[in-house]
Amino acid sequence: MRVIFEKSTPGRRGVGFPPSDVPAHAVLPPECLRATRAELPEVSELEAVRHFTRLSQRNFSVDTNFYPLGSCTMKYNPKFCEVVARLEGFSQLHPLLPQLRRGGMLTQGALGVLYETARLLCEITGMAQFTMQPLAGAHGELTGAMIIAAYHRQQGKRKTRVIIPDSAHGTNPASAAIAGYEVVVAPTGDRGVLDAQTVEELLSDEVAALMLTCPNTLGLFNSQIREIADLIHGVDGLMYYDGANLNALLGRARPGDMGFDVVHLNLHKTFGAPHGGGGPGAGPVGVVERLAPFLPTSVVEKRSDGTYSLQYDRKDSIGYVAPFYGSFGVIVRAYAYLLLLGGDCLKSVSGNAVLNANYVLARLKDHYEVAFDRRCMHEFVLSASRQARMGVKALDVAKGLLDRGIHPPTVYFPQTVPEALMIEPTETESKETLDAFVAAMIEIARLAEQDPDALHEAPTQTPVGRLDEVAAARNQDTSYTPPAPPVEQ
Ligand SMILES: *Cc1c(COP(=O)(O)O)cnc(C)c1O
Repeated sequence: MRVIFEKSTPGRRGVGFPPSDVPAHAVLPPECLRATRAELPEVSELEAVRHFTRLSQRNFSVDTNFYPLGSCTMKYNPKFCEVVARLEGFSQLHPLLPQLRRGGMLTQGALGVLYETARLLCEITGMAQFTMQPLAGAHGELTGAMIIAAYHRQQGKRKTRVIIPDSAHGTNPASAAIAGYEVVVAPTGDRGVLDAQTVEELLSDEVAALMLTCPNTLGLFNSQIREIADLIHGVDGLMYYDGANLNALLGRARPGDMGFDVVHLNLHKTFGAPHGGGGPGAGPVGVVERLAPFLPTSVVEKRSDGTYSLQYDRKDSIGYVAPFYGSFGVIVRAYAYLLLLGGDCLKSVSGNAVLNANYVLARLKDHYEVAFDRRCMHEFVLSASRQARMGVKALDVAKGLLDRGIHPPTVYFPQTVPEALMIEPTETESKETLDAFVAAMIEIARLAEQDPDALHEAPTQTPVGRLDEVAAARNQDTSYTPPAPPVEQ
């Protein structure tokens, strides 16, 4: 369908403009048309190329530098996945094309990709069914929380609370609250992980679910996970697995086998799609069999003749959470990634992610305090509190890394660790890169002792330099008013 945006000029009308094949409903009404031509920049191809090349060079990215940003899994994603996503049959598809078409079957391949990716994710997580629709991890959490609410509503149970550990990713309490739950924060204290006794103390009939990241954001695996699941199930609650970051478990352990009922995954972290800068993500949600009726519409089904169709007629569904088929381009990349690697290589993803993290931890633990000195999973948390006593805070360490061409780790999170530096090297980095990072961190630790002021000025090598955080905090732009929250139904 072509839409005519510009008011046709008399001269043009004479030569068939708007073109006669444009259906009447596709021609915009006169009040929506411009009276004058838009003033668009007129540049040559060379100028356009230079502009975009320059922009790309200003970008700090995984393609150019090491990016140990804890909990974000900023790993390198194979360019193969990009090539597959750009295939014309995928990239030029319109979501309104018919599902079946004599001869062409234009969207059957795309529906097949959705179906097959969901099937592979079921295998990886031990879930019975997946929806591919949620557009990000946080969106997956909200979808999962809505599914849990719909399930308990159908059971006639009044459940108002969701238990979330204090070390959880910030989106967890936000999603539970938006879904209408009261968030009960479970302290993890100096153990770093949630224990069964704490869960037992917080347990009541009102508990709808426990949301858990395992391994958690400290990179620690929860060895009491089965006991905790039994406690939650004992009050008819459900276990929610935040699998935004599955790098530590891939091919080795499945949330479904640990007693989880709902899982979301971030395809843009673990499964071959790049992320950052607010780009598209995908947060598919998997559920156990008894929750499948509540999955959002539509669901891709495979019929006995081998064709795929979208199923909308689902009376218990929580309804639409996203238009059309979710972030289709991200899902295609994930599918390509899964097929490219296969079962054995997926296992080496988790193997190398955990090995790399432990290698860096072992080499840095004499130079920085370690929040929890034990074997870590795919990430770990250091504390710059030793450096802070000399006037060099976690923020200064982060700025110092920028001068050494390295993206800073996640800082000041989780809040349970003072001066936290959360480091996730990911599986895609070489030993040489990890050694260079270790050397930079050790050099910064030495500077903190010998010349702390040097780090207060950092970064000096970046185009902008140190931002004035005091001015940013004092002169806030208060003109923005957020939109009013939706009215309760
Ligand atoms: C990144 C992340 C999320 C949120 O995912 P988005 O796609 O950014 O919404 C949730 N939980 C954990 C543990 C994460 O690392």
